[in-house]
Amino acid sequence: MDDDVLRPSSVRRLLRKFGIRPSKQLGQNFLVSQRLRERIITAAELCQQDVVLEIGAGLGTLTRSLAQRVRRVVAFELDRRLIPILHEELAPYPHVEIVQADILTVEPADLISAPYKVVANLPYYITSAILRHLLEARQKPALMVVTVQSEVGQRLVAGPGAMSLLAVSVQFYGQPSIVAKAAPGAFYPSPRVNSAVVRIDIHEQPPTPVDDVEAFFAVVRAGFAQRRKQLRNSLSQGLHLPVEKVVQALRRCGLDEKQRAQELGVRDWACLYGELLHDRAAETADGSDLRA
Ligand code: SAM
Repeated sequence: MDDDVLRPSSVRRLLRKFGIRPSKQLGQNFLVSQRLRERIITAAELCQQDVVLEIGAGLGTLTRSLAQRVRRVVAFELDRRLIPILHEELAPYPHVEIVQADILTVEPADLISAPYKVVANLPYYITSAILRHLLEARQKPALMVVTVQSEVGQRLVAGPGAMSLLAVSVQFYGQPSIVAKAAPGAFYPSPRVNSAVVRIDIHEQPPTPVDDVEAFFAVVRAGFAQRRKQLRNSLSQGLHLPVEKVVQALRRCGLDEKQRAQELGVRDWACLYGELLHDRAAETADGSDLRA
C-alpha cells in the first residue's frame, strides 16, 4: 500500500482483495484525505523520540505516517479481519506493534512505560468511553490528537453554560481545542456526520488540585444526573445532603443556588467538592457519603 490508499477506489480495492466489508458497528470509516492526515500529524507535533498509541489502526493509513516519524507505535485494532492487512502493509516498520484487542480492556501502563502520545481516528460509537479510559489511566498520555464526531468535539471544548459530564471529565485532565474540521468525504465509507480533530494537552499537574478524584467526580455526576434540575436539588438528592447544606456550599463558591450543572466550569466543581467535603466531615453522623 502506498499513498494511493488515500482514495476511496484504492480502499475499495484493498478491502476487496482481503474479502472484507467495512463494519458500521465497529465505526469503520477509513481515512482517504491526505489533507486531514497532514493536519492530524502536524497537530501531534511528533518527533523521533516519541512513542505513540494509536486506537483503531484500520488499514494502517495513519499508522504508516506515524511510523515514519516516531520511535515506536503501538497500534490497537479490534477487528481480527484487519490484522493480516496491517501486518502486510506495515511490514517495513518493525517498530510498529500491532495489538489485536479492545482498547477498553487494556491498561496502557501494561504496554507503555515512557511518556506517550495518543493519535487516532476514533471509532465514534465509543468516543467518550475511550477518552475516559485514557484520561483515567494510571499512565496517562502527554498529548492526544483524536478525530471525533464534530458535535462531540464541540461538547469537549464547551465552556460554562454548555458543559456536560464529558466536558468536565476532559477539562479536568487537560486543555482541549479543535484543530481541524473534516467533511464526511474525508473517510470511506463516508460517515453521516462531520468530524473534528481535537487536540488535548494533558495537564502535568491539575490546575485545580483535588485530593480525592473519585469523590470529586461523585459530586459532578450527582450534579449532572438530573441536569434539568437546579443544583441545590440534584446535589442534595444525589449526595444525600440537606438542601440547606448544598445552598451554603454554592454560596461559599460564589454560585447562585438556582444554577444548573451545565453552567459550572471545572474550578466551580472543585470548589463545590471542597465545600461539600467539609460538610461531609461535619455530617458524618447522618451517614452522608460522597462515594455512594
Ligand atoms: N485509523 C484508521 C483510519 O484512519 O483509516 C481507521 C479508523 S476507523 C474510524 C476506527 C477503527 O477502530 C476501525 O478500524 C475499528 O475496527 C477500530 N475499533 C473499533 N472499536 C475498537 C476498540 N474497542 N478497540 C480498538 N479498535 C477498535
